[in-house]
Amino acid sequence: MARYQAPRGTQDVLPDDQPYWQWVLGTARDVAAKYGFWPIEVPVFEETEVFVRGVGTGTDIVEKEMYTFEDRGGRSLTLRPEFTAGIVRAYIEHGMRVRPQPVKLYAIGPVFRYEAPQAGRYRQHTQFSCESIGEADPLADFEIMSVAWDLYTALGFRELQFQLNSIGCPRCRPPYIRDVLVPYLHSRRDELSKLDLERLQKNPLRVLDTKEPESQPVVNEAPSIVEHLCSECSEHFAQLRFYLDMLERPYELNPRLVRGLDYYTRTVFEVTAQGLGAQNAVGGGGRYDGLVEVLGGAPTPGVGFAAGIERIVLALKAQGIAPPSMPAPRVFFVHRGRLAKDAAVALADQVRRRGVGALVAFGERSIKAQMRQASKSGAEYVVIIGDEELARGEVQVKHLETGHQEAVVQANLVAWLHERLVAHPSP
Ligand code: AMP
Repeated sequence: MARYQAPRGTQDVLPDDQPYWQWVLGTARDVAAKYGFWPIEVPVFEETEVFVRGVGTGTDIVEKEMYTFEDRGGRSLTLRPEFTAGIVRAYIEHGMRVRPQPVKLYAIGPVFRYEAPQAGRYRQHTQFSCESIGEADPLADFEIMSVAWDLYTALGFRELQFQLNSIGCPRCRPPYIRDVLVPYLHSRRDELSKLDLERLQKNPLRVLDTKEPESQPVVNEAPSIVEHLCSECSEHFAQLRFYLDMLERPYELNPRLVRGLDYYTRTVFEVTAQGLGAQNAVGGGGRYDGLVEVLGGAPTPGVGFAAGIERIVLALKAQGIAPPSMPAPRVFFVHRGRLAKDAAVALADQVRRRGVGALVAFGERSIKAQMRQASKSGAEYVVIIGDEELARGEVQVKHLETGHQEAVVQANLVAWLHERLVAHPSP
């Protein structure tokens, strides 16, 4: 066994898995761009306060999962457990409210949560996070859900499930919790698990999405918040559903969906995929109209979603969906003799300058051994150079798939390859 291993809950993404990763990330960027989202980079760590306020004190993330540390200057910093709070911090700090609204941004990168690792749940995972800040129109919610939909369908997912709920706003949610939900849960407190009794004290809404088996009958029969929304929230939700219906995006209403972050208002949604077992959420999001203000900005609506890349890759594998292969260098130089090797190095350099990937065999192995390396490399053409051919100003070029081989004048080689591989590639 190796002396050192990647820390618990983290993993290496090895070359064999890169076709999946590059495909998923490339697709995410393409879809985001189609909707007018721009990339943003934000720091991997922020002042701890950004997440404590932005994610919310009653949440699992803030209470149990943050990687918080003091730097050498005595500041409390936290590795980002999600992107939204940091992106909103950047929106406020850089005065983005003077730009045309909404400001639509996306980020891709690692996030960190101290969770109990299991299949599909890690301490470092990678998110694609899409945020639309500055617009209250339900069309903005629809757009965010559409980005999610387009991403998963472009990847070829079958049996996707979109779950949707509205959790109201600071005007209608507190009365629902206080006057409807809490009295109901109290009336059936004997049937709740110990953990849910604690949640009932601290964050009653979270009882709704409990996974505790014994609490299920209680929450299944709980009065739905959707029936207690104020008229504005109710209209907003109806309009979002109108767009989803109009474009035939399937979804399921789930009155128990509340999601883990404090800052959500109105729309919340989650996307699940088949084949993942317990950790089957491949993405989720919602509206966060209070967040900009909580982080010190002017009242500004916002809506966003995040997808977990590791889980998407796991789901693709579980569903038997293969990624497109990644391009390998297409030309491999094989050489025999000292001058031939030097010529191969120089010619490969010229070939790459014309935009074609090229490899040169290392060492001085036999032609046969080099040819084996060439086939394993995935190249299409092998250029064979020997000192005698070189003296004639020629090289041999072999097309690996057909086995066809011909002599090419050395001075024409770069143009010859460019013509076949770039200008007029065969299908
Ligand atoms: P959240 O910010 O919790 O809504 O997470 C957004 C998405 O990130 C989820 O839908 C998952 O796909 C993914 N995700 C969240 N937590 C983890 C984790 N611990 N390990 C792997 N993926 C995760």
